[in-house]
Amino acid sequence: MPPSHIAVLGGGLTGLSSAFHLSRRFPSSVVTVVDRNKKLGGWAANTERVKLPSGGSVVLEGGPRTLRPNSYAVLELIHLLGLSDAVITTPKSSPAAKNRYLHVPGTPGIYRIPGPSLSYLWSELRFFITPGVIADLFRGWNRPPDIVDESFESFLERRGHPDTARVLGSALVHGIYAADARKLSVRAAFPMLWEYEERGNGRVLWGILRKEKEEERLKLEQTLARYELGDMRKTMEGVSVYSFRDGMGTLVEALVKSLKTRPNVRILDNTEVTAVVPESERFEITTNTTNPLYPSHVVSALPLPALKVLLPDLPHLTANPTSSVTAINLVFPVPPGKLFPRGFGYLVCRPAHDYLADDAGILGVTFDSESLAAQDDLPPNEQLTKVTVMLGGPHNAYQKIDTALPVVLAHLRYHLNRRQPLPPPILAKVWDHRNCIPTPTPGHLQRMEELKAALVAEDAPWGGRLEVVGAGVKGVSLGDCVESGRLVGREW
Ligand SMILES: Cc1cc2nc3c(=O)[nH]c(=O)nc-3n(C[C@H](O)[C@H](O)[C@H](O)COP(=O)(O)OP(=O)(O)OC[C@H]3O[C@@H](n4cnc5c(N)ncnc54)[C@H](O)[C@@H]3O)c2cc1C
Repeated sequence: MPPSHIAVLGGGLTGLSSAFHLSRRFPSSVVTVVDRNKKLGGWAANTERVKLPSGGSVVLEGGPRTLRPNSYAVLELIHLLGLSDAVITTPKSSPAAKNRYLHVPGTPGIYRIPGPSLSYLWSELRFFITPGVIADLFRGWNRPPDIVDESFESFLERRGHPDTARVLGSALVHGIYAADARKLSVRAAFPMLWEYEERGNGRVLWGILRKEKEEERLKLEQTLARYELGDMRKTMEGVSVYSFRDGMGTLVEALVKSLKTRPNVRILDNTEVTAVVPESERFEITTNTTNPLYPSHVVSALPLPALKVLLPDLPHLTANPTSSVTAINLVFPVPPGKLFPRGFGYLVCRPAHDYLADDAGILGVTFDSESLAAQDDLPPNEQLTKVTVMLGGPHNAYQKIDTALPVVLAHLRYHLNRRQPLPPPILAKVWDHRNCIPTPTPGHLQRMEELKAALVAEDAPWGGRLEVVGAGVKGVSLGDCVESGRLVGREW
């Protein structure tokens, strides 16, 4: 029998996509979305269009800014919401796709990260890359028999070299998780690496080269057949990353608008869930604004620590730490390519002597006016450079992040190895995000299996009628979040 009433707790992107797919799959069930904020969308709703003195306007993103075309769940959502005309893309052939840089603290300047070819041999980063490549190719199988997971850094050290791990590994993790690579589970964050190691009988690079092209093509075809993509695959041909003309908030707004038109969906914003009590056939959900809800089924799309407060008996909800990030948008009255090189942006690796007082805690800088120029609405004679500086993450544990503009600008000047100071920005916006990105630590996949087993256990009070999804469970990217919302409730 289909659920009579489904409560979706949390209206971030995971909760909204869960409600969207559940309301389509169960048209005769009532779906209630509850979120404590007035504005729905969670971290994906931090978009603002700001007017400039010239009369033009720019989009400022405080949260997620780009999507990758390999998430079919998001492409499907865009198609189903009729949003394809709002999509803006960065082609793979553009400098914004080809050029990504790295800053190594202690050395002024940024280095271009070489692509996946032998060109790294003459790259400025070769001293960090070559030892790792050589070690992987000449070292046999060395995974200890008793380990089922390890940190990303320990994996790179075991297969490669400590310098490669510290410089490239830490920077990559700063860019995606704003976390310490020594704490991140390699299997949860980069599962393909574990598989390549097995396929290459130890050698990761060999495993990558031995990819079965035909097998992969068939797998892709089978995967694609499961999604309603319309023309979205065609739109994404040759695309590196994409977003929307009015920023990432477009996706959230379109989802909310669509949910509001559905007769079986009810949205309770500005409403905090304060208690969840499982009863024999239903749940009692108490909030701070409404009478209790009595749904037959519940989807939690809350951050896991928030769910722990409501259901303390569920295992592993607070096993992982969460990073805090400060994002600063800066707009300079200078054409793109003059202050920063043409490219997507740069990442900053962990300093050789650990996270101390270096770099004002800067994790990386994205050159938004390169990859997302189509978002800005400028008069013909106005050209601007828009960047976003990300700070904090693992640095927060060691220092207070100084977001004073002169301090940040002085660090950017050093990163860029400029003689002249940077000109004063015409716009600067600081977004302070506490506990925004979970770090899956080693053992995460196993712990999530145990959580799942506890949810479906026949003797548990929720007896399979409660599902837990969200960035803390399967992956932090927007693609992971939408995919988990798409799959929720499949067993009901
Ligand atoms: C700065 C930053 C940059 C990022 N950049 C990218 C990017 O470029 N690309 C990408 O793919 N991903 C990016 N991410 C990751 C991605 O944005 C997040 O992982 C994703 O948005 C998380 O969605 P969620 O719905 O699972 O969780 P959340 O967005 O955390 O939603 C949870 C919701 O639960 C609500 N809630 C909490 N407690 C209660 C309660 N008791 N009662 C009711 N409601 C409650 C909250 O209000 C919130 O709306 C970025 C994240 C950040 C923070």
